[in-house]
Amino acid sequence: MNSTKAPSANPLTLKERMKVPRQPMLEQAPKLRVMNFTEVNLGYSQELAKQEALRCLECAKATCVENCPVGVKVKDFVKLIVEGKFLEAAAKIREDNVLPAITGRVCPQEDHCEGACLLHKKVEPLGVGYLERFVADYEQRAGAPIAPNAAATGKKVAIVGSGPAGLSAAGDLIQRGHRVRVFEALHEIGGVLVYGIPEFRLPKEVIRQQIDKMREMGVEFETNVVIGKTVSIDELFEEEGYHAVFIATGAGLPVFLSIPGEHLNGVYSANEFLTRINLMHAYEFPKYDEPIMELRGKHVAVIGGGNTALDAIRSARRLGAENAYLIYRRSEKEMPARAEEVKHAKQEGIEFRMLTNPVEFIDGGSGWLKGMRCVQMELGEPDASGRRRPIAIRGSEFEVPLEVAIIATGTSANPLIQSTTPGLKINKKGYIEANQDTQRTSREGVFAGGDIVTGGATVILAMGAGRRAAKSIHEYLTTGEW
Ligand code: FAD
Repeated sequence: MNSTKAPSANPLTLKERMKVPRQPMLEQAPKLRVMNFTEVNLGYSQELAKQEALRCLECAKATCVENCPVGVKVKDFVKLIVEGKFLEAAAKIREDNVLPAITGRVCPQEDHCEGACLLHKKVEPLGVGYLERFVADYEQRAGAPIAPNAAATGKKVAIVGSGPAGLSAAGDLIQRGHRVRVFEALHEIGGVLVYGIPEFRLPKEVIRQQIDKMREMGVEFETNVVIGKTVSIDELFEEEGYHAVFIATGAGLPVFLSIPGEHLNGVYSANEFLTRINLMHAYEFPKYDEPIMELRGKHVAVIGGGNTALDAIRSARRLGAENAYLIYRRSEKEMPARAEEVKHAKQEGIEFRMLTNPVEFIDGGSGWLKGMRCVQMELGEPDASGRRRPIAIRGSEFEVPLEVAIIATGTSANPLIQSTTPGLKINKKGYIEANQDTQRTSREGVFAGGDIVTGGATVILAMGAGRRAAKSIHEYLTTGEW
């Protein structure tokens, strides 16, 4: 059979495409945005989106697609943007990604699609994230209808946890005709998307809209249900008649530094600090009574170098912190945070204190923090993470005066489900063991994925696990084979 390549609607030659500069995202000015919690990025206009889409080289071997954990057909959806077919572009993304308005905003594109973009060898990569966000927002405004699900199979699937892994699996399973119910321990749906990532990066309204779409598709949600306490996994099978369970409970347990003074007033975990801001509405001060320490005029430090650390320090800035420090024991090159967040944080006046490690929180009397003793670090040989290992420089200790310190150096697994589900294998670190391709666990009918399997990772990796789980749950439910 002859395979004919569809002609490109792009009028530019490859050389001309390389000369078009990457179209910048409109954004709130730094001076203004440090005084509010509204979104920093303002999105593309139709013209900017089309202009950016023209830069796509339409490579025969689409490395951007190969490097996307959920396999979004980047080349195809970008081509539809060039043709002005924005709703078709959105539908194309939805074939692989149920949360495009979210991934368009928070996915670390530089590690996936944009990192693999061939343009990047010579010039800036295609703005895939910006384009994904544009079509998702366009689709939302247009109120486009959702695609119908497959015929009902009569099978019931319980999903534990409503973060990106759970939502992604729920979207795929409902489309395959299964009945899907998502159980969430908190009173809001969305996992880290809603309790961790602040409004200025991912507006709550965007999450709500995506979840409403899933409700329209038929996904049922039940909040305030702690699986392992309210009801066990065994009871979901035996008493509630579920045929499969997907555990997507994330890794939300804060890890502390285990240094003196960690108990002092003024020392927070990033998890608590951000939950108070996001779920308890400190970001809407003064509409809500601020459920957080007064930060105006204070010296605040966040310890860590990931997205959580940046979200915490940028939030502190918006709540009035006069001096806002990011304390990280490696150098900026090793920081795992998204590149765009690093750029934005610097524009907002966050002071980066790299190669610095806290060794003690200092009591100012009556149990309140007054400062942090730190040590200067240097980088040695790469460690197990592949990044150069930080080593303390002897005799380099110094103090930083502070009223608030926020620890954002990582999280671990909440052990509740593991300890209440007999036969479920866990690894030494307390994460659930699951097959990397099928997400199957050691218990028949039980699947697991996202941060509860990998440890803290990213939204798109959690969504990828959700997709793989949905595929293999479908196989299990239709063949009965384990
Ligand atoms: P989660 O999102 O953690 O969701 C798990 C859900 O399960 C939670 O809602 C929890 O309440 C619920 N749950 C737990 N136990 C139970 C139980 N027993 N019963 C019922 N429900 C339960 N990644 C990016 O790609 N880009 C970013 O910009 C980014 N920024 C981040 C910022 C912050 C502040 C944080 C903390 C993380 C960030 N990440 C980012 C990482 C990303 O959010 C996570 O990797 C991702 O959310 C993991 O998804 P998940 O579905 O596995 O778990």
